[in-house]
Amino acid sequence: MELKDKINIFKNEGIEKIKIISDFDGTFTKQYKNKDTRENNSVSVFRNENYLSEVYSNGAKKLFEKYNKYERDSSLSKGKKTKLMEQWWTEHWALMQKENMNESNVLEVISKKQIKLRSGVEKFVKISNRLKIPLFIFSSGTGNLIEEYLISKQINFSNVKIISNLWKFDEKGKFIGLRNKYIIHSQNKDVSLLQKWFSESNNNSECLIDTNISYFDSIKKKKNVILIGDSVHDVRMCQKYDNIIKIGFISKHLGKDKKKEFDEQFDLVIDDEKGFEKIIKLLNEIYSNDKKSSFGFSLFNKLLKKKVENEFKFEKIVPNYF
Ligand SMILES: [Mg+2]
Repeated sequence: MELKDKINIFKNEGIEKIKIISDFDGTFTKQYKNKDTRENNSVSVFRNENYLSEVYSNGAKKLFEKYNKYERDSSLSKGKKTKLMEQWWTEHWALMQKENMNESNVLEVISKKQIKLRSGVEKFVKISNRLKIPLFIFSSGTGNLIEEYLISKQINFSNVKIISNLWKFDEKGKFIGLRNKYIIHSQNKDVSLLQKWFSESNNNSECLIDTNISYFDSIKKKKNVILIGDSVHDVRMCQKYDNIIKIGFISKHLGKDKKKEFDEQFDLVIDDEKGFEKIIKLLNEIYSNDKKSSFGFSLFNKLLKKKVENEFKFEKIVPNYF
């Protein structure tokens, strides 16, 4: 289906039928500083900011060299790839566990402003909150860092749910591994995975922050999904729905073949240099046509501003893992 036809469905069915599922690293944040240097992500920032020893760096590099080729190999079956990715990240987190990391390192990294959001992301999150659209951030990175980052930007609204790897700390605050039983990696980043977790345990705090199964039940009727990512694997975050607008950020440094793959997989492909402005426009287009609303773009902006300033009560979600 063409993007414009999908947009028409979203417009006709209205804002209340929408949910958003987005990746974090390389999506909320940029991928590249320049041709040769990648931006920090929620895992690499700890290495780049020298919180990790050479033993870790060498080990992580070896793991990358060993497993990254499999992650990129499109001829491998999903089952085989998933197994290999599980091995990679089990070994990776075990390596990190040997390091002297602690709780306060997460806040330190954030205060150093070494993770940067794309332009428009904060506004996008505020709009999702204003319009009561559930926004899932689904990440194979570090959930603690993502949450603290959103708190630092005052955009950790109650409509925003993070599904990611959560660090476990001992009583002294030392990082001692992951809380979640299943490591989230590129091959299992799929909302249907949540069902598996839920069916096995009532303790969904293992992988989720501040949410519960009744919340998921309550948003089941929202059948129209806006999916945002920066990798073709991200397309699999949500596949069960008929109506999905898939948006992918891609860097020109990844070459023409990758661009072709993105054009095939995503409905809208945005250059890594750009921000969330096009996505905000898209939301506005859907909203402006909503039968229950008749706001033009400038009024929409004004309304948003007013709501943010006057009505949004910043509510700190107390993470239950601290
Ligand atoms: Mg990503």
